Amino acid sequence: MTGTQSKPLSPAELALLFKDRYQHSPDGVWAAPGRVNLIGEHTDYNEGFVLPFAIDRIAQVAVRLRPDRKVRLISSLAERKQVSVDLDQLHPGTMNGWTAYPLGVAWVLQQRGISVPGFDLYLDSSVPSGAGLSSSAAIECAVALALNDLTGAGLSREELVLVGQRAENEVVGAPTGILDQSASLLATEGHAVFLDCRSRAAEAVPLDLARHHLRMLVIDTKVSHAHASGGYAARRASCELGAEVCGVPALRDLSPADLPEAAGLLDEETFRRVRHVVTENARVAETVSRLATTGPASIGDLLDASHASMRDDFEISCPELDLAVGTARGNGALGARMTGGGFGGSAIAVIDVAAEATVRQAVLSAFAEADYARPDIFAVSPGAGARRVV
Ligand code: ADP
Ligand code: MG
Repeated sequence: MTGTQSKPLSPAELALLFKDRYQHSPDGVWAAPGRVNLIGEHTDYNEGFVLPFAIDRIAQVAVRLRPDRKVRLISSLAERKQVSVDLDQLHPGTMNGWTAYPLGVAWVLQQRGISVPGFDLYLDSSVPSGAGLSSSAAIECAVALALNDLTGAGLSREELVLVGQRAENEVVGAPTGILDQSASLLATEGHAVFLDCRSRAAEAVPLDLARHHLRMLVIDTKVSHAHASGGYAARRASCELGAEVCGVPALRDLSPADLPEAAGLLDEETFRRVRHVVTENARVAETVSRLATTGPASIGDLLDASHASMRDDFEISCPELDLAVGTARGNGALGARMTGGGFGGSAIAVIDVAAEATVRQAVLSAFAEADYARPDIFAVSPGAGARRVV
């Protein structure tokens, strides 16, 4: 695969690429964003709280339905090679590589009894792949929205969240929660999405960084988290064990006041995993409350505490993420943490706009000095959720 474009193609440019390859115009173009999780890591599958926001980097799909059962797929990232499959031959075990994301969505819709005809699809994305910004959910959500519109299936956005999650769980084989798809489908510009992963209730929380002269920097360490599925599964297993031993349906049901008792019941490692989830849920609630009262400049210490908890208790950070976070904090960031599932991917730092050049330079120098790959550093702002663009 070649690199991702940082700037999205215009919908018209994508429609032209589609026409060039398929010799007809698309029925439409749909866009869905990647996301940054502001805070609330590994809380989603514990039925807890998360606070992601959609970013201004998007996956876009141009799609046209076909009268037959054939699906043709092209991605500008996957060397523009065309992949052709028969819709009736789709089975979870047979969809591989990047096509598992769009085909997985088509398969789930069919499983739900929706009649999906064949289609031609051209994908282009400005969400970096494997950086912890959920390029995968961006694809799923763009495709889910497109097929929902084109087939007239009439599923709500909340239902499309579950379609994307099921594609990722059952077809791609990643045991993820609803965080990524909820951010991509439910976000509104200038807001984060406060999501209760038990009730699935979503609430928009103002996150107007510009008004407070703040900027959110993403530091993509270029350490791929692709090899991390074992670590992810192990963390899930620890959380399930913790909940079972503590006698609660999910770790969501424990509060910080329950931790001393939990310490007496659990082995040392499982206790630290539990402590991360329990304290992280409390930090999400506190972040929501501060955003609504004292504003985004006041959440720095919560981001810092979240990072420390992931590094020390949940053990999902890595030296590159710790260096990015430590250097950003040491050079003026108000708060910083790794974001996403961990073991690589990206860190975020909330900075005063005036500090941007200093923080950027300091992180680049620190990485060069440590002999790490050059990180990609870019600003993101809270963008709109998935939508039809043409
Ligand atoms: P993340 O969601 O954090 O970016 P994942 O491992 O969940 O990381 O998803 C990355 C995968 O998504 C890639 O390996 C690839 O299969 C697919 N992908 C992402 N962007 C594109 C793209 N532009 N074209 C094709 N496939 C993509
Ligand atoms: Mg992903």
